[in-house]
Amino acid sequence: MTRRTLTRREFVRHASAGIAGAAALATPRGLRAAEQPATKPNISQERAMKIRSIETFTTRTVSIVRVRTDDGAEGYGQIAPFNADISATVLHRQIAHHALGADAMDPDGLADRCIDRNHKFPWSYVCRGLGGVDTALWDLRGKLEGKSVCELLGGQPRPIPAYGSSMRRDITPKDEAERLARLMDSHGYRAFKIRIGTTCGHNTDQWPGRTEALVPTVRKAIGDETALLVDANSCYTPDRAIEVGKILHDNGVCHFEEPCPYWELEWTAEVANALDVPVAGGEQDNCLAQWRRMIGMGAVDIAQPDVCYVGGLTRALRVAKMAADAGLPCVPHSANRSMVTVFTLHLLGAIPNAGPHLEFSIEPSKWTSDVFSPALEAEDGEVAIPEAPGWGVDINAEWLAKAEYQISEKA
Ligand SMILES: [Mg+2]
Repeated sequence: MTRRTLTRREFVRHASAGIAGAAALATPRGLRAAEQPATKPNISQERAMKIRSIETFTTRTVSIVRVRTDDGAEGYGQIAPFNADISATVLHRQIAHHALGADAMDPDGLADRCIDRNHKFPWSYVCRGLGGVDTALWDLRGKLEGKSVCELLGGQPRPIPAYGSSMRRDITPKDEAERLARLMDSHGYRAFKIRIGTTCGHNTDQWPGRTEALVPTVRKAIGDETALLVDANSCYTPDRAIEVGKILHDNGVCHFEEPCPYWELEWTAEVANALDVPVAGGEQDNCLAQWRRMIGMGAVDIAQPDVCYVGGLTRALRVAKMAADAGLPCVPHSANRSMVTVFTLHLLGAIPNAGPHLEFSIEPSKWTSDVFSPALEAEDGEVAIPEAPGWGVDINAEWLAKAEYQISEKA
């Protein structure tokens, strides 16, 4: 049997075929939306589209955002999961007053204003709060125009190939390999991502030898025709990452995610330069200048913005455009089945440099399973972009009723 190891150049060429396919589907308007600040919608009515209120429905894990305009139009978005209660507080304290009274059709202006005015509080929580409002504005706009967000951006709703994403390191190589093989049979996955090393682990493994055993064991179980991706979650120094990279190369891995602490761009670039296995990264990065540096120095071969971490769809589109200009595929981070996966589907359906797969968690989604419907499902290894206007899903009223409520509104 022949290993299907791709050199980095071959991988980018392979991804470019997908880029060309997506570009053929994208209208000029959609491409413009990805290249520069989003154009205003073609809404015939001369009516006020000012943001009147921003509401949050929050648990510790997830927060849903509802934005309403003066004339009663509304859209739903979501803040990035985990410590969502803190992010919701930041939204009401540090984002809302920059949004209330502003043009609901100008998410680019809002994004820039919120970043500029919060210059003493850079990035993480401010971007999470902003992302909640931004994603609600895209839903609102889609509903007003009667189009899915994917269509607003020039794409077409369709099934998107998914990689089954394991979140576990507490699992033996044998058990991981067996469950992935079962998922191939039950859900038709043709790609998986597994976890190697440990998170910010300073070169330590979950237990000695796990990574060296895991990669070939999984490869054997899923066969050579299934794409295998790995995530090191910032584990390694460059020398150890390059050693591990050789194991990955020998086992046909096509994506080496966050080999080094993600803030160590020079380390990551060193690894990318040394290996043929493509290096992926950027999920934690929400400073667009840092993104520009990361891409400019060749630290990553695959760009992975997270829609909710980076500040919403508007800023994720800017990162995707930076990657496209550098000839890089964009494979956004979407590591749980909350609304971030919905947002990511629409993004992948529209950008010309969409990578080959959606990240789709294979873990039980206890805290997201009742937030919206219909739930996303993998079928024949693909997940469909919802077709209805906006994000195309309904936030469940029962979930909203149980969540903690806050509102900021125009005086
Ligand atoms: Mg990751």
